[in-house]
Amino acid sequence: MPSNPKPKPKPRYKKSFQAPKGMRDILPEEQIYWDKIEQTIKNLADAYGFKLINTPILEDSELFIKGTGIYTDIVEKEMYSLRTKGGDKLSLRPEFTPAIIRAYLENGLSSLPHPVKLYSIGPIFRYERPQKGRYRQSYQANFEIIGEKDPILDAQLIQLSFSINNALGLKNLITQINSIGCTKCRPIYKKAIMSFYRKRKKELCSNCQKRYQQNPLRLLDCKEKKCVQIAEQAPPIIDYLCEDCHNHFKNVLEYLDELEIPYILNSHLVRGLDYYNKTVFEIWPEDEERRQIALAGGGRYDKLVKLLGGKDTPAVGFAIGLDRAVNQMKEKGVKVPLKSRPLIFLAQLGDLGKKKSLKLFEDLRKAGLKTISSLSQNTITSQLKIANRLQVRFTLILGQKEALDKTIIIKDMLSGSQEIIPLEKVIDRLKKKLKHKT
Ligand code: AMP
Repeated sequence: MPSNPKPKPKPRYKKSFQAPKGMRDILPEEQIYWDKIEQTIKNLADAYGFKLINTPILEDSELFIKGTGIYTDIVEKEMYSLRTKGGDKLSLRPEFTPAIIRAYLENGLSSLPHPVKLYSIGPIFRYERPQKGRYRQSYQANFEIIGEKDPILDAQLIQLSFSINNALGLKNLITQINSIGCTKCRPIYKKAIMSFYRKRKKELCSNCQKRYQQNPLRLLDCKEKKCVQIAEQAPPIIDYLCEDCHNHFKNVLEYLDELEIPYILNSHLVRGLDYYNKTVFEIWPEDEERRQIALAGGGRYDKLVKLLGGKDTPAVGFAIGLDRAVNQMKEKGVKVPLKSRPLIFLAQLGDLGKKKSLKLFEDLRKAGLKTISSLSQNTITSQLKIANRLQVRFTLILGQKEALDKTIIIKDMLSGSQEIIPLEKVIDRLKKKLKHKT
């Protein structure tokens, strides 16, 4: 008797795949915005004296736990962490700063003349609730000035973030700024804040109930309605700043006045990360609702280099969110010039024509004549259709006969006229026709 056939195992693969939740593809048609942003950032970074540094996307998880802070949202909830086959615990970088400081210390950049000014462009990963303008893989340009405590640099970084946004066509921005004090004055403020919240603890959201013990400053920037209302009554930190922090903050604001950079004091701005001290700021579009995220944010972090094993070294930095910049450019209708389109289409026909067109394409490219071709198309009608759609100025036709005769047809796509010329003359002829300088 035949035995019962075994049930077929269910296929373990999905029928179709999608990008992971909160992550997305950036398609070719969007790249003009990203190119423009990258170019603008590179030009301005250079103009302000920053040097590019690239660090790995994966870092030792401990770096962020120690650097960003154990009780921050990033470390508590948002890191993508993994264990390698060798047993190392790594995390996809959720932000740049600790990684840049690690690289600065590891590569002996601390022996360079200070301040050391570094910038990076790349993805960051945060396991956040995805929504418009908030992704789990997003992109930042990050700037750090290491080794200088002068408040003038805080102001110049804010200026740089304005310069970048303005060069991208994003105007009407406002800086939200605050000082969160230092290791001397912040503990006093923390006590004041805890005593303010003690009586109101029960009214707080469950997140804030935890924050009360672990990170009381974060109580001030909770977005829950009931917590916002309570925070309105909280004592402002600037009333508690020590003399040094007070003077530092006053100077930053004076420099901003000098630069005519608009700002508002936001005593609830504390930023989510442990390492900040003194100045913290965010750059917002003026008409933006609070529920959205800022265009850029940063601040001073004078204790991080020491915390990560270096000498006591003050530093200040910021990151600009590139996804947000692209979204803003689109929303505000910023026009980005298209890249120059090709003026020449190379059509081929027959085996020999097809073969010869490969080499001709290379010669045209090397001569600086931007050419497009459709080497796998085999009919002239389909190729001319493409040439028409691309609105090229000239189409070259290299058929079997022309390949044998070592000639080529140049078709003027405006007038429809065409001429046959020796193949070796085609580059000169096209250059003349396009008034190309040789
Ligand atoms: P932060 O590192 O949190 O100070 O963020 C700096 C900037 O990066 C923000 O102002 C945003 O523009 C951008 N940003 C941060 N997180 C995200 C995210 N999840 N999705 C998109 N942009 C982000």
